[in-house]
Amino acid sequence: MTTIKTTCDQCGEVHLGTSDIALELEGRGDEGTYRFVCPECFSIQRRPASQRVVSVLLATGVSYEVTLAPASPINQSDLDRFVQQLASDDWFEKLVTYGDSAEPSPFS
Ligand SMILES: [Zn+2]
Repeated sequence: MTTIKTTCDQCGEVHLGTSDIALELEGRGDEGTYRFVCPECFSIQRRPASQRVVSVLLATGVSYEVTLAPASPINQSDLDRFVQQLASDDWFEKLVTYGDSAEPSPFS
């Protein structure tokens, strides 16, 4: 079994198995953070994972999840455009038919 050596804030150096570590990948997926429960003091530890750490952890078979970067928040110009649309009589039709929906519009 592969043993991964890392450090706990309280206990210093600890040894973990691959199933003790969960890797969270962010953005493009080459960096992120990993977390584990310290086998000595049972506290949850989080560590940044650089590209090198990520590749080592993945190579040892650590399970991972991908966290996508959050979408940009709605800003004032988005709101303004929305309010402008609401002022027109056919805003709902536009809303329903917007995009490439194959469904025929119920209003035509
Ligand atoms: Zn510890």
